[in-house]
Amino acid sequence: MATKHELSAMIDRDREEIIDFLCRFVRAPSPNPPGDTREATSVITAFLDRHGLPWRTVAPVPEWPNIIGTFGGAREGKHLVLNGHIDVFPVDETEAWTHAPWSGAIADGKIWGRGVTDMKAGTAAMVMTYRYLHVLRDQLAGKLTLTCVSDEETFGPYGARWLVAKEPEVLGDCVLNGEPSSPFTIRFGEKAPFWIRFTVRTPGAHGAYTHLSESATMTAARLICELQAITGDVVAPPGRIGEALVIGAEAADRAMGRGAADTVQRYTLNIGTIQGGLKVNMIPGACSFEADFRLPVGGRKEELLARIGKVLERFPSAAMEELNFTEPAACDPFHEMVGLLRENARTVAGIDPQPILSLGGSDARLWRQLGIPAFIYGPHPRGMGQKDENVDIEEYLHVVKVHVLSAFDYLQGP
Ligand SMILES: [Zn+2]
Repeated sequence: MATKHELSAMIDRDREEIIDFLCRFVRAPSPNPPGDTREATSVITAFLDRHGLPWRTVAPVPEWPNIIGTFGGAREGKHLVLNGHIDVFPVDETEAWTHAPWSGAIADGKIWGRGVTDMKAGTAAMVMTYRYLHVLRDQLAGKLTLTCVSDEETFGPYGARWLVAKEPEVLGDCVLNGEPSSPFTIRFGEKAPFWIRFTVRTPGAHGAYTHLSESATMTAARLICELQAITGDVVAPPGRIGEALVIGAEAADRAMGRGAADTVQRYTLNIGTIQGGLKVNMIPGACSFEADFRLPVGGRKEELLARIGKVLERFPSAAMEELNFTEPAACDPFHEMVGLLRENARTVAGIDPQPILSLGGSDARLWRQLGIPAFIYGPHPRGMGQKDENVDIEEYLHVVKVHVLSAFDYLQGP
């Protein structure tokens, strides 16, 4: 019977291989858009083959393959699902990176490159968990399933959304995901994006003839201020979530920036894009902007829509079009898996991560929306969506260990 100490020793022994895998994964570009992940996917499948691990791909779009692999333990038990994404943010070619974005360079104790934090390090941790637990499958109860998906970064339909709808094999009792969280927090839920495009149309006129037409840009500016005014209020979360949020407030600020804990239970608004006008001396006849509302856990779309509707009554020249919505979802912050992650993080590095809600979105929500608890534990979100994205090597290895050990504990059976 292998002990957790031995498992930990195996990871230490394979340290260089685990680091090298992530470097090669980063060197296989998978920016989304356009989202072609075939090269990066083949880095994973080659690794799975080398270790004799079962896998298959599901590719509703041939350029965007998803990997699924499953094996069973020696006896009946629970079903744990591992989830990570292969696609990453694109690179702004005008930005000068210290190490080229697809270099997977090692320098200053870090691995550098686009997507290394979001989330190739976390996906690598999922692959390693699958690998080490397969070695010890005779000592496990239940079943372990690996899912590595494409089409996450744009909320696309052909990644995890496709799998949870069409592949019942990925619906387990609990999900682990290595999205960036910082080693100090475990994410058990997240806010919900609700994206709306507003368009203002007016007759327009010569810029000096302000008596002839309402200005679409000026009306849009007033509308934005009024939309801002209907957000900001705090929503009480259901169940014991409020209790966890109080305990985790400091950790949330530490992981997501000061003010995060205060923001998490509020409706918020960001105006992501705005377009209006053709020329400085013309009164614009059209102005459109995209609003990114975020609903807190316990918040309701109908409630927000009712408030927006009231505002729009005062803006007859404005119309709205819904672009994207997903229900806010959270699971139990005191679930068994949270206890295991905390205990193992304490043992590995003396860190006691706190369960918190996330501001940004992830695929974990898709399982939570089906009532399957899903937890995120990953590296610091350093350089996410910016130049010089990097992950600290020791932190990456810490995340690998905590996932491997927690999955091992979870699959010990009753
Ligand atoms: Zn991500």
